[in-house]
Amino acid sequence: MSRIGNAIIVGGGIGGPVAAMALRRAGIEATVYEAYDGSADGVGGALSIAPNGRTALAAIGAEAAVAAIGHPMRAMVMQSWKGKRLAEFGAPPGLPEQLLVWRSDLYRALHDEAGRRGIRIEHGKRLVTLADSTAGGDGRVVAHFSDGTSAAGDVLIGADGIRSTVRRLIDPGAPEPRYAGLLGFGARTSGDGLVPTGDKMHMVFGKRAFFGFQVGPGESGWFANLPHPVPMSAAEVRRIGAAEWLRRLAEVFRDDRSPAVELIRRTAPEDLVITGGLEDIPSVPTWHRGRVVLVGDAAHATSPSSGQGASLAVESAVQLARCLRDLPVPEAFAAYEGLRRDRVERIIRMAARTNSDKAAGPAARVLRDLLMPVAMRLLANPGKWAWQFDYPIDWAAPVTAPARAGA
Ligand SMILES: Cc1cc2nc3c(=O)[nH]c(=O)nc-3n(C[C@H](O)[C@H](O)[C@H](O)COP(=O)(O)OP(=O)(O)OC[C@H]3O[C@@H](n4cnc5c(N)ncnc54)[C@H](O)[C@@H]3O)c2cc1C
Repeated sequence: MSRIGNAIIVGGGIGGPVAAMALRRAGIEATVYEAYDGSADGVGGALSIAPNGRTALAAIGAEAAVAAIGHPMRAMVMQSWKGKRLAEFGAPPGLPEQLLVWRSDLYRALHDEAGRRGIRIEHGKRLVTLADSTAGGDGRVVAHFSDGTSAAGDVLIGADGIRSTVRRLIDPGAPEPRYAGLLGFGARTSGDGLVPTGDKMHMVFGKRAFFGFQVGPGESGWFANLPHPVPMSAAEVRRIGAAEWLRRLAEVFRDDRSPAVELIRRTAPEDLVITGGLEDIPSVPTWHRGRVVLVGDAAHATSPSSGQGASLAVESAVQLARCLRDLPVPEAFAAYEGLRRDRVERIIRMAARTNSDKAAGPAARVLRDLLMPVAMRLLANPGKWAWQFDYPIDWAAPVTAPARAGA
């Protein structure tokens, strides 16, 4: 039986709607406040929902809604720029396959599912400040939005992404996102006439940049991570223009034995998704203060190289709801952090190592290409990966405070 009545969720991206659905299942009313006015149609590129993300969605009965818009990927094939197959990674036996989804489709699927469950999502509500009366008042928290309105709740959950306002409000000294030395691009395009990859995603450590692709019977998708030592914001990258970036990318991949150049050539400038600089935050010291707590990228931003950003946001949202169902604040927040911190920071570290390989300069690339086959053979051992994908959440199991066990 929950100790709180209602929650304010700031941020209606991926973690926000999932947190609201999980809280609803835990008997807690939640309203989501999203800064942007409209939908996310056409916003963002491809994301992966890893087996652990699907398991977490299943814990709150929301997996089917996401499976309906995803493309199952049975394995990830790693290749060198010379076309050599280095390794193949699949989900450990007994776990669901990874899903490839477009962020805009995922956003719509989660918003529709939350709507079907009667959850209110208010748009055009940008949080600017908050007042937490835990210290000497009635134990309520009030969110103030840029349109002059406000909302009160028993707790406030910051699901407002890597540039979280909530994180800064609970800890003005919180770290800022760290640039990974790579710029991100991607697109959906036609794969007609190219060798289909079936239900496998291919990743190429290219001679000059990293390329991921999937060629389906109909639509195909690709993404590129381009080494760029100087940080650039997404707006700065966009100002250079999509047509110019497509030209530069085709040039960068010209020596690689992969369909990169052809897929790039088939991409219309208006279809190019410019993600901007890849970023992460290795560790956020303060996850909660008083009646305020962080989930998703606000607490644990991993770069897209992990393929785990959305899945970890979902896991955290579900675990937080279990903790709030079973424990009073602040024990619930401490238990939640205990369940989550080590796991998410380990994944962030792994992705940072991948980014170093992707961003290697010309000299380091020679060494990387020499060592890569051996490293990949070692990594291809499923035992090394199982911990990441095999994260069962027993929704019904009570959470005891503050513990690292229970999941
Ligand atoms: C526009 C966009 C495009 C993305 N594209 C990609 C991609 O192509 N590939 C990839 O791997 N990852 C992408 N991501 C990141 C990915 O969605 C997240 O890593 C992951 O899903 C974690 O989800 P989250 O809910 O924690 O954060 P997010 O999905 O980032 O959601 C945060 C939400 O909070 C809202 N918000 C921010 N500040 C406030 C505020 N002050 N008040 C109210 N609301 C606020 C944002 O508008 C956003 O909707 C993108 C994120 C965004 C916001």
